[in-house]
Amino acid sequence: MFCPKCGNQCNDGANFCSRCSTRISGNVGGSDEQRVNQEPYRAAVYSQPQKHPGESSALTSLICGILGIFVLPIILSIIAIVQGNKAKRMGYDGGMATAGVVLGWIGLLLGILGVIFTIFYVIFIFSMMPELLICA
Ligand SMILES: [Zn+2]
Repeated sequence: MFCPKCGNQCNDGANFCSRCSTRISGNVGGSDEQRVNQEPYRAAVYSQPQKHPGESSALTSLICGILGIFVLPIILSIIAIVQGNKAKRMGYDGGMATAGVVLGWIGLLLGILGVIFTIFYVIFIFSMMPELLICA
């Protein structure tokens, strides 16, 4: 058999080429031609940039962080903080996770202030009730 990389003639039982040390893996798994055709395909699969496992958490964190400020504070903000910290624990060091956590805290703070403001507003309205009734 011949080495698929350098064309050197090797022993039929050999696992590696004697000239360039390329793996030729004996006679298992199809003809020489098939193995040669598989090589570029496998190389393409492995050379693709690997997506970091923490990246989806970081993205979720960022989206929830933004929506947490404008749409649904507190709940989405907490999700943003949790997901952002999860991404960091998984070793994702991109700015997306940090931004998600920061936005999450801002959303949480705004949400809590909003709740406090609403409670005081309701108390204020109720405290005005007797006077409103008298005026009416
Ligand atoms: Zn070779």
